Amino acid sequence: MSNLTRDFISEKMINVFADKQINFQNAMKLINSTDLDFLADCANQITLKYGDGKVDVETLVNAKSGRCPEDCSFCSQSTFNTTKIDKYPLLTPEMILAQAKAAKDNGANSFCIVCAYRAPPEQDFIQICNTIKLIKESLDIDVNTSLGFMTRDRAQILKRLGVKRYNHNLETAESMFDKICTTHSYEDRINTARIVKEAGLELCSGGIIGMGETIEQRVELGISLQSLNPDEVPINMLIGREGTPLFNRFSLTEEEIIRTIATFRFLMPRAILKIAGGREVHLKKNDKKVLKAGANGIISGGYLTTKGNKPVEDSRMLKEIGLKQK
Ligand code: SF4
Repeated sequence: MSNLTRDFISEKMINVFADKQINFQNAMKLINSTDLDFLADCANQITLKYGDGKVDVETLVNAKSGRCPEDCSFCSQSTFNTTKIDKYPLLTPEMILAQAKAAKDNGANSFCIVCAYRAPPEQDFIQICNTIKLIKESLDIDVNTSLGFMTRDRAQILKRLGVKRYNHNLETAESMFDKICTTHSYEDRINTARIVKEAGLELCSGGIIGMGETIEQRVELGISLQSLNPDEVPINMLIGREGTPLFNRFSLTEEEIIRTIATFRFLMPRAILKIAGGREVHLKKNDKKVLKAGANGIISGGYLTTKGNKPVEDSRMLKEIGLKQK
């Protein structure tokens, strides 16, 4: 293997340790590096330097499913797509609390209330606030939310209620966005991400790979995320759902996933890099590799409309590779 490649990757790792940001051109060289093992290894060293060596394990509840008025082409919850999923209105506070308790009992350190809205109607927002209060009074678990577009007032209310982190993904590169969604803009997404940060909430923002984007566009997404300085970056791997325009259109290899995660680690050394939706399908039992290549978080116990590994299986997997849960 070329020493030049290793020298370049090492130099960029040293730059990261010196708090120098990796730019687009260098991120392109990293993602295309010929020595994948060395790239992954250096990404892991960055993770270990800035993290606490533990894996963030999060469980989601799909608290309001389907009938979203937006036309995101990857999403099984959009009214524009004819998918066979359970559609239901906002769950009651007691139902969501029961799921938070189960997540805590299964070892999750954070619990995210996710709802399919453009933005919640006022009545639903009040009910979500009451749910957050109930969970905070009843359980010691971090509560995160993902409720669509935010206003400043609402973000501040969530902050006062003790919400730790707010999820709002950029989904893909700006140059690709109009192929994926036409009912809102990239700028709308960035705007909510900024509002979240201004309110003092931690920002969770990531995207989906495997939607037909080029490698350049994958790096472009990484650079856009880097500019937001998110606390957490979930990387989803598309599962093209039947009834969506992306059904069976694109494939994704394990190597591409590792390259992307490792490069994103160079771009965002301090963020929790979470392998999210599609993990079980695309990585099968090889999620261990990604957790040694820059990732330090997982979603456990299933996703919004797809099943995932059982928390007990994930705990076993983490033990096998000598990693502890937060
Ligand atoms: S806004 Fe969210 S829930 Fe609605 S269609 Fe897009 S990704 Fe799906």
